[in-house]
Amino acid sequence: MPIVVQKYGGSSVADPSRIKAVADRVEAARRAGNDVVVVVSAMGKTTDELISLAADISANPPPREMDMLLTAGERISMALLAMALEVRDIPAVSYTGSQAGILTDSAHGGAKIKEITGHRVRDSLAEGKVVIVAGFQGVDPDSKEVTTLGRGGSDATAVALAASLGADACEIYTDVDGVFTADPRIVTEARKLAEISFDEMLEMSASGAGVLMSRSVEFGRRFHIPIHVRSSMNDQEGTWVKETTMEQAIISGIAHDRSEAKVSVNRLPDRPGVAASVFTPLAEADVNVDMIVQNVSHDGTTDISFTVPRAQVSEAERIAKEVAAQVGAESVDVDLGVGKVSLVGAGMKSHPGIAAKAFSALAASDINIEMISTSTIRISCVVRSEHVERAVQALHDAFDPPMIVEEVGA
Ligand code: ADP
Ligand code: ASP
Ligand code: MG
Repeated sequence: MPIVVQKYGGSSVADPSRIKAVADRVEAARRAGNDVVVVVSAMGKTTDELISLAADISANPPPREMDMLLTAGERISMALLAMALEVRDIPAVSYTGSQAGILTDSAHGGAKIKEITGHRVRDSLAEGKVVIVAGFQGVDPDSKEVTTLGRGGSDATAVALAASLGADACEIYTDVDGVFTADPRIVTEARKLAEISFDEMLEMSASGAGVLMSRSVEFGRRFHIPIHVRSSMNDQEGTWVKETTMEQAIISGIAHDRSEAKVSVNRLPDRPGVAASVFTPLAEADVNVDMIVQNVSHDGTTDISFTVPRAQVSEAERIAKEVAAQVGAESVDVDLGVGKVSLVGAGMKSHPGIAAKAFSALAASDINIEMISTSTIRISCVVRSEHVERAVQALHDAFDPPMIVEEVGA
Protein backbone atom coordinates (compact mmCIF):
# COMPACT_ATOMS: atom_id res chain seq x y z
CA MET A 1 0.00 0.00 0.00
CA PRO A 2 1.23 3.52 -0.68
CA ILE A 3 2.45 5.32 2.41
CA VAL A 4 1.20 8.82 3.17
CA VAL A 5 3.02 10.98 5.73
CA GLN A 6 0.93 13.84 7.10
CA LYS A 7 2.20 16.46 9.54
CA TYR A 8 -0.15 18.64 11.60
CA GLY A 9 1.20 21.83 13.20
CA GLY A 10 0.25 23.33 16.56
CA SER A 11 -2.86 25.21 15.45
CA SER A 12 -4.14 22.10 13.63
CA VAL A 13 -4.19 20.15 16.92
CA ALA A 14 -4.90 23.13 19.21
CA ASP A 15 -7.98 21.71 20.98
CA PRO A 16 -10.09 18.53 21.16
CA SER A 17 -12.31 19.56 18.23
CA ARG A 18 -9.28 20.21 16.01
CA ILE A 19 -7.80 16.83 17.03
CA LYS A 20 -11.08 15.15 16.07
CA ALA A 21 -10.97 16.95 12.72
CA VAL A 22 -7.44 15.60 12.17
CA ALA A 23 -8.73 12.11 12.98
CA ASP A 24 -11.39 12.58 10.25
CA ARG A 25 -8.72 13.53 7.73
CA VAL A 26 -6.53 10.57 8.70
CA GLU A 27 -9.56 8.29 8.35
CA ALA A 28 -10.19 9.64 4.84
CA ALA A 29 -6.56 9.03 3.80
CA ARG A 30 -6.82 5.48 5.11
CA ARG A 31 -10.15 4.87 3.36
CA ALA A 32 -8.46 6.00 0.15
CA GLY A 33 -6.20 2.96 0.50
CA ASN A 34 -3.08 4.37 2.11
CA ASP A 35 -0.91 3.39 5.01
CA VAL A 36 -0.86 6.55 7.12
CA VAL A 37 1.93 7.95 9.28
CA VAL A 38 1.02 11.14 11.16
CA VAL A 39 3.54 13.54 12.68
CA VAL A 40 2.11 15.94 15.26
CA SER A 41 3.32 19.16 16.88
CA ALA A 42 2.45 20.24 20.40
CA MET A 43 -1.08 21.64 20.87
CA GLY A 44 -1.47 25.36 20.07
CA LYS A 45 1.12 27.48 21.84
CA THR A 46 2.21 24.70 24.23
CA THR A 47 5.90 24.93 23.28
CA ASP A 48 5.95 28.72 23.91
CA GLU A 49 4.20 28.17 27.23
CA LEU A 50 6.69 25.52 28.31
CA ILE A 51 9.57 27.84 27.37
CA SER A 52 8.16 30.66 29.49
CA LEU A 53 7.48 28.25 32.35
CA ALA A 54 11.16 27.32 32.31
CA ALA A 55 12.11 31.02 32.20
CA ASP A 56 10.06 31.59 35.37
CA ILE A 57 12.20 29.01 37.12
CA SER A 58 15.66 29.60 35.69
CA ALA A 59 17.47 32.24 33.63
CA ASN A 60 19.73 29.57 32.24
CA PRO A 61 18.01 26.17 32.21
CA PRO A 62 20.22 23.16 31.43
CA PRO A 63 19.73 22.26 27.72
CA ARG A 64 19.08 18.62 28.61
CA GLU A 65 16.24 19.55 30.96
CA MET A 66 14.83 21.99 28.38
CA ASP A 67 14.55 19.10 25.93
CA MET A 68 12.96 16.85 28.57
CA LEU A 69 10.41 19.62 29.12
CA LEU A 70 9.67 20.56 25.49
CA THR A 71 9.33 16.98 24.22
CA ALA A 72 6.39 16.59 26.62
CA GLY A 73 4.30 18.90 24.40
CA GLU A 74 4.29 16.60 21.36
CA ARG A 75 3.67 13.61 23.62
CA ILE A 76 0.32 15.05 24.68
CA SER A 77 -0.98 15.57 21.15
CA MET A 78 0.23 12.20 19.86
CA ALA A 79 -1.60 10.28 22.59
CA LEU A 80 -4.81 12.31 22.18
CA LEU A 81 -4.84 11.73 18.42
CA ALA A 82 -4.34 7.98 18.95
CA MET A 83 -7.35 8.04 21.29
CA ALA A 84 -9.44 9.98 18.74
CA LEU A 85 -8.67 7.30 16.13
CA GLU A 86 -9.46 4.44 18.50
CA VAL A 87 -12.89 6.04 19.10
CA ARG A 88 -13.43 5.72 15.32
CA ASP A 89 -12.38 2.03 15.47
CA ILE A 90 -9.19 2.80 13.63
CA PRO A 91 -6.27 0.94 15.16
CA ALA A 92 -3.55 3.46 16.01
CA VAL A 93 -0.38 3.68 18.05
CA SER A 94 1.70 6.69 19.06
CA TYR A 95 5.48 6.74 19.37
CA THR A 96 7.90 9.30 20.77
CA GLY A 97 10.81 10.25 18.51
CA SER A 98 13.01 7.87 20.43
CA GLN A 99 10.55 4.97 20.09
CA ALA A 100 10.23 5.69 16.37
CA GLY A 101 14.01 5.37 16.01
CA ILE A 102 14.73 8.98 15.12
CA LEU A 103 18.45 9.12 15.87
CA THR A 104 20.13 12.50 16.21
CA ASP A 105 23.41 14.06 17.19
CA SER A 106 23.80 15.35 20.75
CA ALA A 107 23.03 19.08 20.21
CA HIS A 108 20.18 19.76 22.64
CA GLY A 109 17.76 22.35 21.30
CA GLY A 110 19.00 22.06 17.71
CA ALA A 111 19.83 18.41 17.07
CA LYS A 112 20.25 17.07 13.54
CA ILE A 113 18.63 13.83 12.42
CA LYS A 114 21.38 11.36 11.48
CA GLU A 115 19.34 8.26 10.79
CA ILE A 116 15.84 6.86 11.17
CA THR A 117 15.72 3.17 12.07
CA GLY A 118 11.92 3.09 12.24
CA HIS A 119 11.43 -0.64 12.95
CA ARG A 120 8.46 -0.09 15.22
CA VAL A 121 6.86 2.30 12.74
CA ARG A 122 7.14 -0.26 9.94
CA ASP A 123 5.97 -3.16 12.13
CA SER A 124 2.92 -1.23 13.28
CA LEU A 125 2.06 -0.24 9.70
CA ALA A 126 2.34 -3.93 8.75
CA GLU A 127 -0.15 -4.70 11.54
CA GLY A 128 -2.60 -2.33 9.87
CA LYS A 129 -2.24 0.52 12.37
CA VAL A 130 -2.07 4.24 11.83
CA VAL A 131 1.27 5.32 13.28
CA ILE A 132 1.51 8.66 15.06
CA VAL A 133 4.98 10.06 15.70
CA ALA A 134 5.83 12.97 18.00
CA GLY A 135 7.43 15.71 15.91
CA PHE A 136 10.48 17.82 16.75
CA GLN A 137 12.29 15.18 18.80
CA GLY A 138 14.75 12.32 18.65
CA VAL A 139 17.36 10.53 20.70
CA ASP A 140 21.15 10.59 20.71
CA PRO A 141 21.96 6.85 20.41
CA ASP A 142 25.32 7.22 22.20
CA SER A 143 24.15 9.02 25.34
CA LYS A 144 20.51 7.80 25.10
CA GLU A 145 19.45 11.39 25.84
CA VAL A 146 16.30 12.85 24.30
CA THR A 147 16.90 15.80 21.94
CA THR A 148 14.82 18.43 20.13
CA LEU A 149 15.40 19.59 16.57
CA GLY A 150 14.88 23.37 16.94
CA ARG A 151 11.71 25.46 16.56
CA GLY A 152 9.44 24.24 13.80
CA GLY A 153 11.26 20.89 13.89
CA SER A 154 8.16 18.75 13.33
CA ASP A 155 8.41 19.66 9.64
CA ALA A 156 11.87 18.07 9.58
CA THR A 157 10.59 14.95 11.38
CA ALA A 158 7.84 14.56 8.79
CA VAL A 159 9.96 14.95 5.65
CA ALA A 160 12.75 12.76 7.06
CA LEU A 161 10.21 10.05 7.92
CA ALA A 162 8.66 10.30 4.45
CA ALA A 163 12.13 9.78 2.97
CA SER A 164 12.98 6.84 5.20
CA LEU A 165 9.64 5.11 4.57
CA GLY A 166 9.79 5.63 0.80
CA ALA A 167 6.65 7.79 0.69
CA ASP A 168 5.90 9.54 -2.60
CA ALA A 169 5.33 12.91 -0.90
CA CYS A 170 4.93 14.57 2.47
CA GLU A 171 1.85 16.59 3.40
CA ILE A 172 2.35 19.53 5.80
CA TYR A 173 -0.98 20.70 7.23
CA THR A 174 -0.94 24.17 8.73
CA ASP A 175 -3.08 27.26 9.43
CA VAL A 176 -2.61 28.94 6.03
CA ASP A 177 -3.54 27.64 2.56
CA GLY A 178 0.05 27.14 1.42
CA VAL A 179 3.24 29.09 0.80
CA PHE A 180 2.40 32.68 -0.06
CA THR A 181 4.38 35.41 -1.82
CA ALA A 182 4.82 37.00 1.64
CA ASP A 183 3.55 36.22 5.12
CA PRO A 184 -0.24 36.58 4.59
CA ARG A 185 -0.52 37.96 8.13
CA ILE A 186 1.49 41.01 6.99
CA VAL A 187 0.61 41.43 3.31
CA THR A 188 -3.11 40.96 2.77
CA GLU A 189 -2.71 40.80 -1.04
CA ALA A 190 -0.06 38.04 -0.79
CA ARG A 191 -0.80 35.23 -3.25
CA LYS A 192 -0.66 31.52 -2.70
CA LEU A 193 1.98 29.91 -4.92
CA ALA A 194 0.87 26.76 -6.73
CA GLU A 195 4.47 25.56 -6.67
CA ILE A 196 7.96 26.64 -5.67
CA SER A 197 11.35 24.99 -6.18
CA PHE A 198 13.32 23.50 -3.29
CA ASP A 199 16.09 26.04 -3.86
CA GLU A 200 13.76 29.02 -3.59
CA MET A 201 11.86 27.56 -0.63
CA LEU A 202 15.15 26.94 1.14
CA GLU A 203 16.06 30.63 0.75
CA MET A 204 12.55 31.67 1.90
CA SER A 205 12.70 29.42 4.98
CA ALA A 206 16.26 30.37 5.86
CA SER A 207 15.23 34.04 5.53
CA GLY A 208 12.44 33.67 8.07
CA ALA A 209 9.38 32.24 6.27
CA GLY A 210 8.40 30.00 9.19
CA VAL A 211 5.76 28.10 7.24
CA LEU A 212 8.39 25.36 6.61
CA MET A 213 11.49 24.74 8.70
CA SER A 214 14.51 25.03 6.41
CA ARG A 215 15.89 21.65 7.40
CA SER A 216 12.70 19.98 6.16
CA VAL A 217 13.25 21.58 2.76
CA GLU A 218 16.84 20.34 2.75
CA PHE A 219 15.59 16.78 3.37
CA GLY A 220 13.02 17.15 0.61
CA ARG A 221 15.67 18.30 -1.84
CA ARG A 222 18.24 15.69 -0.83
CA PHE A 223 15.85 12.72 -0.88
CA HIS A 224 13.57 13.93 -3.70
CA ILE A 225 10.42 14.10 -1.58
CA PRO A 226 7.92 16.68 -2.86
CA ILE A 227 6.30 18.61 0.01
CA HIS A 228 2.64 19.63 -0.17
CA VAL A 229 1.99 22.58 2.20
CA ARG A 230 -1.76 22.99 2.75
CA SER A 231 -4.43 24.01 5.20
CA SER A 232 -5.90 21.63 7.76
CA MET A 233 -9.07 23.74 7.74
CA ASN A 234 -10.17 23.09 4.12
CA ASP A 235 -9.62 20.72 1.19
CA GLN A 236 -7.99 23.15 -1.21
CA GLU A 237 -4.83 22.21 -3.03
CA GLY A 238 -1.92 23.99 -1.33
CA THR A 239 1.63 24.67 -2.54
CA TRP A 240 3.91 22.00 -3.97
CA VAL A 241 7.55 22.39 -3.04
CA LYS A 242 9.52 20.33 -5.54
CA GLU A 243 12.58 20.01 -7.76
CA THR A 244 11.53 22.05 -10.75
CA THR A 245 8.47 24.10 -11.43
CA MET A 246 6.48 24.49 -14.65
CA GLU A 247 6.22 28.22 -14.22
CA GLN A 248 9.31 30.35 -13.89
CA ALA A 249 8.82 33.15 -11.39
CA ILE A 250 11.27 36.04 -11.37
CA ILE A 251 10.40 36.83 -7.76
CA SER A 252 8.74 34.01 -5.81
CA GLY A 253 8.34 35.86 -2.58
CA ILE A 254 9.44 38.13 0.21
CA ALA A 255 10.47 36.78 3.61
CA HIS A 256 11.21 38.60 6.82
CA ASP A 257 12.98 37.76 10.03
CA ARG A 258 13.19 39.52 13.39
CA SER A 259 15.14 36.82 15.17
CA GLU A 260 18.61 38.28 14.62
CA ALA A 261 20.69 40.96 16.33
CA LYS A 262 23.57 43.10 15.07
CA VAL A 263 26.99 43.23 16.73
CA SER A 264 29.48 45.97 15.76
CA VAL A 265 33.18 46.06 16.58
CA ASN A 266 34.23 49.70 16.27
CA ARG A 267 37.57 51.16 15.22
CA LEU A 268 39.51 47.98 14.73
CA PRO A 269 43.08 48.48 13.45
CA ASP A 270 42.76 47.92 9.68
CA ARG A 271 45.42 45.33 8.89
CA PRO A 272 45.52 41.87 7.29
CA GLY A 273 44.08 39.15 9.54
CA VAL A 274 41.84 41.39 11.59
CA ALA A 275 38.57 39.95 10.19
CA ALA A 276 39.89 36.45 10.81
CA SER A 277 40.64 37.40 14.42
CA VAL A 278 36.97 38.32 14.91
CA PHE A 279 35.29 35.47 13.05
CA THR A 280 37.55 32.53 13.95
CA PRO A 281 36.62 32.46 17.67
CA LEU A 282 32.94 33.00 16.75
CA ALA A 283 33.09 29.98 14.44
CA GLU A 284 34.85 27.93 17.11
CA ALA A 285 32.02 28.73 19.52
CA ASP A 286 29.44 27.61 16.88
CA VAL A 287 27.98 31.13 16.65
CA ASN A 288 25.95 31.32 13.47
CA VAL A 289 27.09 34.52 11.74
CA ASP A 290 24.74 35.60 8.95
CA MET A 291 25.51 38.99 7.35
CA ILE A 292 28.85 40.83 7.58
CA VAL A 293 29.72 44.42 6.67
CA GLN A 294 33.14 46.09 6.92
CA ASN A 295 33.34 49.87 6.65
CA VAL A 296 35.79 51.85 4.57
CA SER A 297 38.98 52.47 6.53
CA HIS A 298 39.55 55.83 8.28
CA ASP A 299 42.81 56.81 10.00
CA GLY A 300 44.00 53.19 9.86
CA THR A 301 40.89 51.84 11.62
CA THR A 302 37.67 50.25 10.42
CA ASP A 303 34.34 48.99 11.82
CA ILE A 304 32.97 45.47 11.31
CA SER A 305 29.29 44.66 11.89
CA PHE A 306 27.65 41.27 11.69
CA THR A 307 24.32 39.63 12.53
CA VAL A 308 23.74 36.55 14.68
CA PRO A 309 20.64 34.80 16.02
CA ARG A 310 19.37 36.66 19.12
CA ALA A 311 19.70 33.46 21.11
CA GLN A 312 23.47 33.63 20.55
CA VAL A 313 23.97 37.37 20.97
CA SER A 314 25.40 37.30 24.53
CA GLU A 315 27.96 34.70 23.47
CA ALA A 316 28.82 36.77 20.36
CA GLU A 317 29.15 39.94 22.44
CA ARG A 318 31.43 38.24 24.96
CA ILE A 319 33.70 36.91 22.21
CA ALA A 320 33.71 40.25 20.32
CA LYS A 321 34.74 42.08 23.50
CA GLU A 322 37.61 39.64 24.10
CA VAL A 323 38.82 40.12 20.53
CA ALA A 324 38.40 43.91 20.78
CA ALA A 325 40.63 43.96 23.86
CA GLN A 326 43.27 41.76 22.19
CA VAL A 327 43.54 43.70 18.93
CA GLY A 328 42.99 47.17 20.38
CA ALA A 329 39.54 47.99 18.97
CA GLU A 330 37.65 50.88 20.57
CA SER A 331 34.28 49.34 21.50
CA VAL A 332 31.62 46.72 20.83
CA ASP A 333 27.91 47.55 20.37
CA VAL A 334 24.92 45.23 20.33
CA ASP A 335 21.76 46.28 18.48
CA LEU A 336 18.59 44.26 19.10
CA GLY A 337 16.43 46.63 17.04
CA VAL A 338 17.17 45.15 13.62
CA GLY A 339 15.13 43.04 11.22
CA LYS A 340 15.78 41.52 7.82
CA VAL A 341 13.74 41.50 4.63
CA SER A 342 14.63 39.20 1.74
CA LEU A 343 13.52 39.00 -1.85
CA VAL A 344 13.73 35.47 -3.27
CA GLY A 345 13.44 34.33 -6.87
CA ALA A 346 15.31 32.02 -9.24
CA GLY A 347 14.63 34.41 -12.13
CA MET A 348 16.73 37.21 -10.63
CA LYS A 349 19.85 35.44 -11.93
CA SER A 350 18.90 36.33 -15.47
CA HIS A 351 17.07 39.63 -14.85
CA PRO A 352 19.38 42.53 -14.08
CA GLY A 353 18.12 45.49 -12.11
CA ILE A 354 16.22 43.59 -9.43
CA ALA A 355 18.50 44.84 -6.63
CA ALA A 356 18.30 48.45 -7.83
CA LYS A 357 14.50 48.23 -7.98
CA ALA A 358 14.35 46.74 -4.46
CA PHE A 359 16.60 49.47 -3.01
CA SER A 360 14.54 52.18 -4.75
CA ALA A 361 11.31 50.73 -3.34
CA LEU A 362 12.73 50.83 0.19
CA ALA A 363 14.06 54.37 -0.35
CA ALA A 364 10.68 55.55 -1.61
CA SER A 365 9.20 54.30 1.67
CA ASP A 366 11.90 56.17 3.58
CA ILE A 367 13.44 52.96 4.90
CA ASN A 368 17.18 53.04 5.50
CA ILE A 369 19.20 49.93 4.60
CA GLU A 370 21.91 49.06 7.14
CA MET A 371 23.36 45.90 5.61
CA ILE A 372 22.96 44.01 2.34
CA SER A 373 23.77 40.44 1.38
CA THR A 374 22.97 38.46 -1.74
CA SER A 375 23.03 34.96 -3.16
CA THR A 376 22.29 34.15 -6.82
CA ILE A 377 18.58 33.91 -6.02
CA ARG A 378 18.19 36.17 -2.94
CA ILE A 379 18.71 39.79 -1.89
CA SER A 380 18.53 40.53 1.87
CA CYS A 381 18.55 43.90 3.61
CA VAL A 382 18.86 44.64 7.31
CA VAL A 383 16.60 47.53 8.34
CA ARG A 384 15.23 48.87 11.64
CA SER A 385 12.96 46.28 13.20
CA GLU A 386 10.02 48.70 13.31
CA HIS A 387 10.33 49.15 9.52
CA VAL A 388 10.17 45.45 8.67
CA GLU A 389 6.44 45.24 7.95
CA ARG A 390 6.51 48.38 5.81
CA ALA A 391 9.55 47.06 3.97
CA VAL A 392 7.83 43.75 3.18
CA GLN A 393 4.77 45.61 1.93
CA ALA A 394 6.87 48.05 -0.15
CA LEU A 395 8.76 45.21 -1.84
CA HIS A 396 5.55 43.29 -2.46
CA ASP A 397 3.96 46.38 -4.04
CA ALA A 398 7.03 47.03 -6.20
CA PHE A 399 7.44 43.50 -7.56
CA ASP A 400 3.92 42.11 -7.37
CA PRO A 401 5.25 38.53 -7.10
CA PRO A 402 5.29 35.88 -8.45
CA MET A 403 6.07 37.84 -11.69
CA ILE A 404 5.83 34.82 -13.95
CA VAL A 405 7.68 35.32 -17.24
CA GLU A 406 7.58 32.09 -19.15
CA GLU A 407 6.02 28.68 -18.93
CA VAL A 408 8.56 25.90 -19.16
CA GLY A 409 7.39 22.97 -21.26
CA ALA A 410 3.78 24.16 -21.24
P1 ADP B 1 2.46 25.19 12.20
O1 ADP B 1 2.14 25.32 13.64
O2 ADP B 1 1.36 24.60 11.39
O3 ADP B 1 3.79 24.54 11.96
P2 ADP B 1 3.68 27.79 11.72
O4 ADP B 1 3.21 28.88 12.58
O5 ADP B 1 5.00 27.17 12.04
O6 ADP B 1 2.53 26.70 11.65
O7 ADP B 1 3.75 28.27 10.18
C1 ADP B 1 2.62 28.84 9.59
C2 ADP B 1 2.74 30.36 9.64
O8 ADP B 1 3.85 30.77 8.82
C3 ADP B 1 1.57 31.11 9.05
O9 ADP B 1 0.56 31.28 9.99
C4 ADP B 1 2.19 32.40 8.56
O10 ADP B 1 1.92 33.49 9.43
C5 ADP B 1 3.68 32.15 8.57
N1 ADP B 1 4.32 32.49 7.30
C6 ADP B 1 5.46 33.24 7.18
N2 ADP B 1 5.79 33.40 5.90
C7 ADP B 1 4.85 32.74 5.17
C8 ADP B 1 4.65 32.53 3.76
N3 ADP B 1 5.49 33.05 2.85
N4 ADP B 1 3.58 31.80 3.37
C9 ADP B 1 2.73 31.28 4.28
N5 ADP B 1 2.87 31.44 5.61
C10 ADP B 1 3.91 32.15 6.06
N1 ASP C 1 6.30 22.36 18.85
C1 ASP C 1 7.56 22.77 18.26
C2 ASP C 1 7.60 24.27 18.08
O1 ASP C 1 6.65 24.96 18.45
C3 ASP C 1 7.84 22.07 16.97
C4 ASP C 1 6.89 22.38 15.83
O2 ASP C 1 5.82 22.92 16.05
O3 ASP C 1 7.24 22.06 14.69
O4 ASP C 1 8.58 24.78 17.60
MG1 MG D 1 5.78 25.22 12.02
